Amino acid sequence: MAANISCIPLLREQDDDLDGGIFNQALSVGLEEIHFRIDPMSGLKAIIAIHNTRRGPALGGTRCLSYPSEHHAVVDAMRLAQSMSYKSAFADLPFGGGKAVLIRPEEIASRDAYFECYGEFIDSLNGRYITAVDVGTTVDDMDIIGRRTRHVLSTSAGSGDPSFHTAQGVLHGILAAVKVDLQRDDLEAVRIAIQGVGKVGYSLARLLHRQGAELAVSDIDDEAVRRCVEDFGAEPIDAGKMIDHDCDVFSPCALGSVVNADTVNRIRANIICGAANNQLAEDFYGDVLYRNDIFYVPDYVVNAGGLIHVIYGSSVETETRIASIYDSVADIYQRSKVLKVPCHRVANHIAEQILSDSKRIAADV
Ligand code: NAD
Repeated sequence: MAANISCIPLLREQDDDLDGGIFNQALSVGLEEIHFRIDPMSGLKAIIAIHNTRRGPALGGTRCLSYPSEHHAVVDAMRLAQSMSYKSAFADLPFGGGKAVLIRPEEIASRDAYFECYGEFIDSLNGRYITAVDVGTTVDDMDIIGRRTRHVLSTSAGSGDPSFHTAQGVLHGILAAVKVDLQRDDLEAVRIAIQGVGKVGYSLARLLHRQGAELAVSDIDDEAVRRCVEDFGAEPIDAGKMIDHDCDVFSPCALGSVVNADTVNRIRANIICGAANNQLAEDFYGDVLYRNDIFYVPDYVVNAGGLIHVIYGSSVETETRIASIYDSVADIYQRSKVLKVPCHRVANHIAEQILSDSKRIAADV
């Protein structure tokens, strides 16, 4: 009989309408604040979601993407902010969780005007939200934001691009998952398929190649795939066929919701472990993976390396904390086995427990 572990459900990204409206959705995941800013001159349409500030100011990157609808952008911001709270709590970082989404216009006429305006928006929140690089933004963009607010990390004068450290954390996660699930001490000839070989995916491919893994890669950018074929002898896989690829470890390093109604029963890997945020379109699909005997390593547990580096810089502290991702993954696996509960529910429960304990600490002060 499965243990009763209750978790706050993650928002469902594919809802056609925001059930009960934005406020009810925000309440259902415990979101503290959501802010909007529009600026017709620069083309800025920005959303900042602050999920939880019990452990400290909300820290999370800025995503700049085009979205199918504004509704998708709002949902993405809320879900990502919640994951950031869990990620910070799990990694025992003195920060809460937040995320910003910029709905990318067809053309950004002046990146300076666009990101300066966005920097003013961040500054108006008086430090309750701190930003960093994410998909669609760069260290240069962070430098522009830094002209208007001090609440920005991963600038060129600061910790820079965190992607390599994120990849390091994912490597530790894969090593642990392969050890506990496949009883392998190394990655020699372990077949690992990476979906998305951008900043994190390419660094991860390099690290895995050094460990002797047999790589397959896909990307919608042909040039990114070609680099991995040339540099690491990776097998190129058509982006549309990656989900069906037979491998030991599937590593999603592109965008979220890769495990969804269409894909969940097609995945042919033993383990899923990658950097992409919110890989499960809904928590329910994690339950299906569990029933299918696939070890899903919760994304926010293994992709915290970049966040750790953003906070602690290049230091022994950073290396130690990133290496500890190995133990976290092994621990979640063991608890899942003992409790007979899917790994994502085990991890969510731990993160929620830490957050509620943090509340008590804050109240005692
Ligand atoms: P990136 O934009 O540099 O790379 C993403 C890559 O995925 C790109 O090359 C893109 O072409 C590719 N891609 C997009 N759709 C695809 C598809 N359908 N199939 C295959 N490839 C596809 O982003 P990144 O910084 O490498 O981040 C990757 C993921 O990891 C994101 O979900 C991000 O939120 C998450 N993440 C990144 C960091 C970090 O430090 N950069 C930290 C934590 C989490």
